Amino acid sequence: MLKFPHTLPGLYIDGQWAHGPEALTVINPASEQVLAHVDGADAGAVDLAVAAAQRAFAGWAKTPARTRADCLRAIANGVEARRQHLMQLQAGNNGKPLFEAGMDVDDVIATFNYYAGLADELDASRDRDVPLPTDEFTARVRREPCGVVGLIVPWNFPMVTTAWKLAPALAAGCCVVLKPSEVTPLAELELAAIIAESGLPAGVFNLVCGTGPAVGAPMAGHHGIAKLSFTGSNAVGVQVMQRAAETVKGVSLELGGKSALLVLEDADLDLAVELASGGGYFNAGQMCSATSRVLVADALYEPFVRRLKARAEAIVQGDPLAAGTEMGALVNRAQYQRVLGHIQAGIEAGATLVTGGGRPPALPVGFFVQPTVFTEVPLDSALWNQEIFGPVLCVRRFHSEAEAIERANNSDFGLVASVVSADVARAEQVANALQAGLVWINAPQVIFPQTAWGGYKQSSLGRELGPWGLQAFQEIKHVVRAAWPQVG
Ligand code: NAD
Repeated sequence: MLKFPHTLPGLYIDGQWAHGPEALTVINPASEQVLAHVDGADAGAVDLAVAAAQRAFAGWAKTPARTRADCLRAIANGVEARRQHLMQLQAGNNGKPLFEAGMDVDDVIATFNYYAGLADELDASRDRDVPLPTDEFTARVRREPCGVVGLIVPWNFPMVTTAWKLAPALAAGCCVVLKPSEVTPLAELELAAIIAESGLPAGVFNLVCGTGPAVGAPMAGHHGIAKLSFTGSNAVGVQVMQRAAETVKGVSLELGGKSALLVLEDADLDLAVELASGGGYFNAGQMCSATSRVLVADALYEPFVRRLKARAEAIVQGDPLAAGTEMGALVNRAQYQRVLGHIQAGIEAGATLVTGGGRPPALPVGFFVQPTVFTEVPLDSALWNQEIFGPVLCVRRFHSEAEAIERANNSDFGLVASVVSADVARAEQVANALQAGLVWINAPQVIFPQTAWGGYKQSSLGRELGPWGLQAFQEIKHVVRAAWPQVG
């Protein structure tokens, strides 16, 4: 199953599918088998996609926002109708288990429906009067779509990161050029097929599969793209920002993380272990929001480590498409080798490997890495400070709440954090002291379209989701008029 006999067209431009000059090989990371060949674009195809989007922009921007909302709902309904197929594509191409792929699809549906709701209200709220300290002038503020936007996404939650950008961009009235990850283009190709049936005018949505250098870099530097929204690694985020500076483009960046989970001394131990496991091993740890630094109060430290070890060793790893699989494979060989390299470096730096650390013996094929726990991790080690993007948890003890907060905040990143405590008022105070864009208290990593996504420091530039995600694709215009009698 899930094998494509022909090379799939990887370009959808101006309402037409097209082939491209490059060839991308797409694999199933659990079997290491080729799943599909997909065409990749080049700079010339990016020019065509941008030109199509520019032609469509005037019409789409003027389309009543309620009509745009109807298109978003049609996309949500199309995704729902193909839920099973999309789950299979996500699981087969990314290596995540089916139940996680189902959560991804549900998130996509919720995001399109949420922005359809915001679009419903857009026309009525487009212009607002601005109070002035004089009656000689009147002023109104108006929000308008910012133009053609470029969306570049990674491989870890491909459809979800796409939906978080695409739905608000379309709702705002922008036209889009989307570049999926070359590693996981299959779900986005299916999404493009759904969009093709949704009633969206030709040119409003364009897809260009391809590599970063061949497609992403020309997008970042493109004169016809007004705004770029990028999710990916910090290294590439910096390059994107540098290229975008050439044309003074607006840029939103969602980058890496090295987030902390704080287990206070009054925490429920079972809950704390469950949240640590979810925060470290969901999506095989390939999450920018992974709470990979676990800080545990002295009093709970020993039993916590014992229980976390047992929990990690009980996780069922295997074929992502099989029922009962709890953790799948890493996305490709490069990621697998990168994670194993981090584990080896951690051992050499003096950290104590409690469990895991390698390939599960029962899975000789596929890019599987065991759920791994380290303790005694040196504070100056790469293991403690750098994003690993694999199923690796580092646990350290703390002696006081102030020490835990200081350790949690001592990072170049600040995406998310988690606090586990029976004292909710205290947990709220700790949440206020943490430098992170989203803090969960006694909760798994639930993300609602209504709440913002993004972080402090080097984790992000701007915010996605909620009204902030929509505003990222809008320009602000003020119209100021003299109030005295007009001549002529
Ligand atoms: P990556 O930076 O290698 O690639 C991301 C995207 O950028 C891909 O589509 C890639 O083709 C493209 N790209 C590569 N070089 C480019 C260039 N020079 N110009 C323009 N585009 C280019 O990231 P990845 O390996 O796909 O994903 C993992 C990274 O993404 C992790 O660091 C993770 O933290 C981050 N991430 C962040 C969030 C968030 O919301 N903060 C979410 C998911 C992933």
